[in-house]
Amino acid sequence: PRMPAPKNEPSRDFVPGSPESRSVSAAIENIRANPREIPHVVNGERIMTADTTRVVEPHAHRSVIGTMAVADETVTKKAIAASLAAAHEWSRTPWWERAAIMLRAGDLAAGKYRDELVAATMTGQSKTFHQSEIDAASEFADFMRYNAHLAQQIYADQPASLPGDINILDQRPLEGFVLAITPFNFTAIGVNLPTTPALMGNTVVWKPAEKAALAAEVTMRVLEEAGLAPGVINLVHGSGAAVSSTAIADPDFAGLTFTGSTAVFRSLWRAVGNNIDTYRSFPRLVGETGGKNAVLVHPTADIDAVRTALVRSAFEYQGQKCSAASRAYIARSVWNKLRDELVDIVRELPVGDPTKHETYVGAVIDRTAADRLQAAFDRANTLDTHERLVGGKTDTATGWFVDPTIYTTTDPTAFTLSEEFFGPLLTVYVYEDSEWDTVLREVDRASGYALTLSVFASDRRAISKALDALRNTAGMTYVNDKPTGALMGQVSFGGGRASGTNDRTGSRLALQRWISPRFIKESL
Ligand code: GLU
Repeated sequence: PRMPAPKNEPSRDFVPGSPESRSVSAAIENIRANPREIPHVVNGERIMTADTTRVVEPHAHRSVIGTMAVADETVTKKAIAASLAAAHEWSRTPWWERAAIMLRAGDLAAGKYRDELVAATMTGQSKTFHQSEIDAASEFADFMRYNAHLAQQIYADQPASLPGDINILDQRPLEGFVLAITPFNFTAIGVNLPTTPALMGNTVVWKPAEKAALAAEVTMRVLEEAGLAPGVINLVHGSGAAVSSTAIADPDFAGLTFTGSTAVFRSLWRAVGNNIDTYRSFPRLVGETGGKNAVLVHPTADIDAVRTALVRSAFEYQGQKCSAASRAYIARSVWNKLRDELVDIVRELPVGDPTKHETYVGAVIDRTAADRLQAAFDRANTLDTHERLVGGKTDTATGWFVDPTIYTTTDPTAFTLSEEFFGPLLTVYVYEDSEWDTVLREVDRASGYALTLSVFASDRRAISKALDALRNTAGMTYVNDKPTGALMGQVSFGGGRASGTNDRTGSRLALQRWISPRFIKESL
């Protein structure tokens, strides 16, 4: 019998005073009142190394919510050894037992652990109720359920056999361990990256972003309660560079699954290249690495839809989604009607503590992020090609707050249209209504990234032209919709060029990267 196709886990509304609001708020108070130790988890054992660091709330950086262990070489080597030791048994565990563990983890994330995951993500990563719910509850559960479903399809795939023969495709895991390095911006990516190779029979060393350590600690308990055996996923905290340099130097390093910056992914790829003579097998390298996503608006676009899409995709979660809109190319006739209302809405967006219901924009993740945005504002302010329409300030006295900001530029090669800032900064380039062909070229050329893209138009020929001219400009092109919010089961996620290896989270491909098939032909 086939597993029925999963459905997306619905997200709750969080009306102030509702039972779910009260219970998540209580979980938040519990985190604040009881800062916890965040240990490494190696072979099921909790380890606090001598070196530790404090975990704080980005929107209240004097609020300490945890003390996180920081990995050294010894604990990283221990994690690698534990992964290798667990590999024999785990790789022989039937796939349906592995899938059942993931399904149980999905149910725990959607049920018993839901409020704790949502609260940890709100406090640690500065997400609002809604942003945290769609990530740490809904997408967490979706990843577990859809991946299990996709795994069933992969393992069901068997070759034909002639009479007198039996042909078997043995979908083996890789030989060695997989390194998973996960970002701060999605708790769901945190669980998806290590569990995808594990579902396919691999064992994993998992290094989450420091700023997502609290959610990772909860995630690890969810996986253990779901039945994950010790040593299958070994969690080590601390600096990515320290952990990855030890892991990549190991001859049993079999693959990397990474979400983070392009610069870091390139440096990891280089490190792998430097060690290429020492590995048993060629490692698999999978990366998703950011974007400079455009919203492109034709003169025939629906202005209300454009306005909503811009506000949501540029400023939800402070613009810290890889898929966030950070540049917009808008026809002059549309811009003339859109501009004032858009600026008024953005000026009024409530910025503050995301654990308060009225907040729409929380803090950026840390001082480095706030400084990066401030430096971009300062640089744009010196250029006479740029005009600031709203925002443009940071306030870091109590939290890492950055104003939702819009600039316009008259320079199609401006740095604000090419560089990723990973924050609430949108730059608008206004083009003349008759210049659709020219603007298509500019959208494609301005940046080296290719993750998401939105095209707003009602003219069918204009849409077709854009889909053709921008075929390599993005891995996900949305027509008349915002570029954020890919849902498992509907949109698989990935991008090319500087945005990554395009291995499509939410597709069979993402799972197949973690197997190395063996073919067996037996004549009877
Ligand atoms: N899946 C998220 C979205 O579609 C973005 C994930 C990311 O930031 O990497 O908005």
